[in-house]
Amino acid sequence: MKNLHFEDLEDKVCVLTGGGGAIGSSLGIYLSEMGLKLAILDLNGPRAIEVAEEITAKTGNQAIGLATNVLDKESLISAKATINTELGKVNFLINAAGGNSPKGTTDLETLDTVSEENLEKSFYGMDVDGFRKVFDLNFNGTLLPTMVFSTDMLDLGKGSVINFSSMSAYHPLTRVGAYSAAKAAISNFTEWLAVHLAKQNIRVNAVAPGFFVGEQNRFLLYDEKTGELSARGKKIIQNTPMGRFGEYEEIHGTVTYLLSDLANFVTGIVIPIDGGFNAFSGV
Ligand code: NAD
Repeated sequence: MKNLHFEDLEDKVCVLTGGGGAIGSSLGIYLSEMGLKLAILDLNGPRAIEVAEEITAKTGNQAIGLATNVLDKESLISAKATINTELGKVNFLINAAGGNSPKGTTDLETLDTVSEENLEKSFYGMDVDGFRKVFDLNFNGTLLPTMVFSTDMLDLGKGSVINFSSMSAYHPLTRVGAYSAAKAAISNFTEWLAVHLAKQNIRVNAVAPGFFVGEQNRFLLYDEKTGELSARGKKIIQNTPMGRFGEYEEIHGTVTYLLSDLANFVTGIVIPIDGGFNAFSGV
């Protein structure tokens, strides 16, 4: 299936970090259908290979899967060498590796009453190392691949980088302190790097997905036993003007637009994909 509006994407090489994940794997198939050559990078090597094989089987287009750690520059450099040999120079980079962990999260939403137990469940009980890990995965996991793969874009005189921010970058969600700080840093870095590389014709933009149901967060959003929305799930839906969670497919179009020449004069922006969550004041 080829879309005439996106001819400029055909046969271009796209590196997709976190390509074994929920959003990455869904996006990889779609971009391959648009004619892109995909390099699926993931810490989970077998999963990266599985996704690449699935892509090729589905679309007939070239895709390779590589075990790569986005926090390890040597691992990224080695992945780049393989990609350059097997697919060619890198035209596009999508930084989709990221995520949260309970270790960067507080049990309490707010510290209302000071007690030994509450302090432990609050900011004061946070594991600094856990905070650092979540921050690093999201922020340095965006910084390092960009540093390694965008050098090809300098050689080509053109390129597009897409980062994954979040709703939590605009107004931090309760409990997820480390994740929010990292995503805010990603939005800021997106603007900074867009300016820095503008004269090189390398565009740097981000998407900020709202709430999408995946295997990881399903039981935060729905009660495992009853299948009803959880308290947090209800709050999210109440604050999403479109009144529902997103589908992964609803991320594809915005990413494709930002990669393509349709966005040739667009750099340094963060596009919410959120059913109106960010625009809504709650009243
Ligand atoms: P996911 O957990 O399904 O996928 C993330 C992938 O990154 C996994 O396959 C994991 O193995 C990989 N990964 C983890 N550490 C890595 C490392 N050091 N090196 C290489 N790969 C590593 O998450 P997702 O839902 O697909 O999210 C993708 C991006 O979108 C993330 O940045 C996430 O923060 C962001 N996001 C997701 C949502 C959502 O609702 N799913 C909302 C907003 C933002």
